[in-house]
Order: sequence, then structure tokens, then C-alpha cells
Amino acid sequence: MASGHATLRAMNAATDQRESVVAYIALGANLGDARTTVMAAMETISQLVGVECVARSALYKTAPIESAGADYFNAVVKVLTFQSAYSLLILLQDLEQKEGRDRPYRNAPRTLDLDLLLYGGAQISSDRLTVP
Ligand code: AMP
Repeated sequence: MASGHATLRAMNAATDQRESVVAYIALGANLGDARTTVMAAMETISQLVGVECVARSALYKTAPIESAGADYFNAVVKVLTFQSAYSLLILLQDLEQKEGRDRPYRNAPRTLDLDLLLYGGAQISSDRLTVP
């Protein structure tokens, strides 16, 4: 993971963001106290450096897709950010990590899943980041 972050930082140097961008982040959790985790994560995202939360959706409960396990709690936040898309990804992955990110297999239940849905009008397609 550390080397992955180093790579992202290097990629980020080429895409440094100087104006704020509207971004949408999806949150999902279906392990542990998923409702509390998603609510807390929305709060934490709003406090990230260079990130201002301008809207939060309600919480939605959804059944897992192509997977077993408990229902998911899902939400979406709209943010204004000065972080580049790759920096935002790092921050979101750090947050996932703090909640005990574990992906033993595809679509495994997760304590916290954060996905960058939209980053302005950017179309990004790399091995690390696909947006939208
Ligand atoms: P997941 O297991 O669903 O959390 O997927 C994590 C992987 O998806 C990481 O390797 C990310 O680099 C990659 N990824 C690609 N596009 C995105 C995105 N838009 N938001 C979050 N992670 C992404």
C-alpha cells in the first residue's frame, strides 16, 4: 500500500489542482456498525484538508450485489475540493484503512468503501482511478 501511495503522489504532481472542483463521493459499509461508520465517515470527509462538504444524501439500505453478507448502508456526499483527484483518492483510502480495510475477495463485505464517483467533468482512466 505504501508504494502504491508513493506512485499516486508522483502521478498527482502532474495533476496538481489549483481551483476548487465539485466532486461526489459514495460511501458504503456492511460490516460492523455500518450505519455509524458511514455517518462518521461523512463527518470525517467534511473535515479533510482542502475538502468542503456542501451536501449529504440520506442513508440508504441496499442488499449486497454479487455477494453475500448484511445489507449495506450507503450515502453520497457532494464536496468542493482543492485536492486533485489522486490526492482525494489517497485521503479516501487512508480513511478506509483506518476503518480496517480488508478485501479478501471481490465484493467481500467491507467496514467502509469509499468511491470517487465524479470529479468535476474529468474523465480519468488509469490502473488506480476510474472516473466517472
Ligand atoms: P474497492 O475494493 O472497491 O475499494 O476498490 C479499490 C480499488 O479501486 C483501488 O485499487 C482503487 O485504486 C480503485 N479505484 C479505481 N477507481 C476508483 C474510484 N473512482 N474511487 C475509488 N477507488 C477507485
